[in-house]
Amino acid sequence: MASSQERLFGTNGVRFIPGVSHDLDFVIKLAESIGTYFGEGEILLGQDGRNSSPAIAHSTAAGLMSAGRDVAEAGLVPTPALQFAVKTFGFKGGVMVTASHNPPQYNGLKVVGSDGVEIPRLDEQRIEKIFNDDAETRADWKSVGTARSEGTVVRNYISGVTGRVNTKLIAQRRFSVVMDLGNGAQCVAAPYLVESLGCKLTTLNSVLDGAFPGRGPEPTPETLKDLSLAVRSVGADLGVAYDGDGDRAIFCDEVGGIYWGDQTGPLIADYLLEKSPGGTIVTPVSSSQAVEAVAKKRNAKVLRTRVGSVDVSRTVLERKALFGFEENGGCIYPAHIAVRDGGMTTALVLECLAARGMAFSKAMSYWVPRYYLAKTKVEIDRKKIESIMRKVERQAGKEVEKVDGLKVWVDDHTWVLVRASGTEPIVRIFAESDTREKAEATLKKYVKAVRAASA
Ligand code: MG
Repeated sequence: MASSQERLFGTNGVRFIPGVSHDLDFVIKLAESIGTYFGEGEILLGQDGRNSSPAIAHSTAAGLMSAGRDVAEAGLVPTPALQFAVKTFGFKGGVMVTASHNPPQYNGLKVVGSDGVEIPRLDEQRIEKIFNDDAETRADWKSVGTARSEGTVVRNYISGVTGRVNTKLIAQRRFSVVMDLGNGAQCVAAPYLVESLGCKLTTLNSVLDGAFPGRGPEPTPETLKDLSLAVRSVGADLGVAYDGDGDRAIFCDEVGGIYWGDQTGPLIADYLLEKSPGGTIVTPVSSSQAVEAVAKKRNAKVLRTRVGSVDVSRTVLERKALFGFEENGGCIYPAHIAVRDGGMTTALVLECLAARGMAFSKAMSYWVPRYYLAKTKVEIDRKKIESIMRKVERQAGKEVEKVDGLKVWVDDHTWVLVRASGTEPIVRIFAESDTREKAEATLKKYVKAVRAASA
């Protein structure tokens, strides 16, 4: 249970294992702290399809009402649908019960502001302080909050997404799409979205299940072999897969090739920049340089942020950017809402392919230059991390970017990123280049440097 200095928020909301690391008393107190932070106004509450989500959602509603907040319960919805509803319906804020792509035993709470975007880091600390100081409000019988159900969140989400793309252009192509829902929260939205865009749909793992018995809640090239196979056997134009709460989408071309998010991100960015010249693109330091190549051609600017979707979202808003993306498949289109959204990403890819009029694999090789990424992790002693980073920086002997970790440009097309994990005693090393050999050689060199520095 809570110690006086407890950190609650991680990279993406509060995560825990219900009944093991934290119990429902913790959830109620946390929700009281969140309700106290928000002050007056109604809060929209949603949940993903995990086994523990109903219990945690009820406890969250109880805590919010205890703090005097009124609660509108959306029930089971994808995270981006909840976020979009908070923004468009004018709620004071929102809380989503989800552990995104984490294994089935996990759950968590994500807190969003009235703009639908995850609250800033400083506000997370305000909630932690309320929690740790036992300063949460507990309303009496006169001021305790009420609850009602809000059943239009998914419908509002689908019409919000379709309102941002050229539906006629997409529908004309009669795309055949294979969708791997991974037993996650997009089961209740994405199939209806894609069918409303005139696509012929085949689904995999389309039954909502908190044990994620299909391919697990995290879409990666390794877990999407069935999707790749299904696309080829159906003869589909493309495949798409979502994570557990539906904010990330990973795509597969017509010949079964899986693309990581920093390949589809630049494809979408290029298309949007063609329509809106001069826009800014935002992405973390760790994603591929393919986006710079695309932006250069379009005379556009790329802003690099720390790793984490909250940083990307907040930068997109502050800099009024056109588009943002992460390598894990999270894409942010602020004309819709400045958060990662698997459904919006799907609609954008469909419009882009319809407009380009070529097969997915052809569009990708024509519009997005190919780079090679090599990555690994090195175990280190966490106490030595600062001295390791200092030594590696000195050894780099070049200008080092310090947005997040150390990023060094070895030559015009080769970079390496050395970044300490926030939670584990490891350093992650990424190297990208225009040839596989150069990427691997650079990685090897920096693994050696990190090992030498930690000896
Ligand atoms: Mg997610």
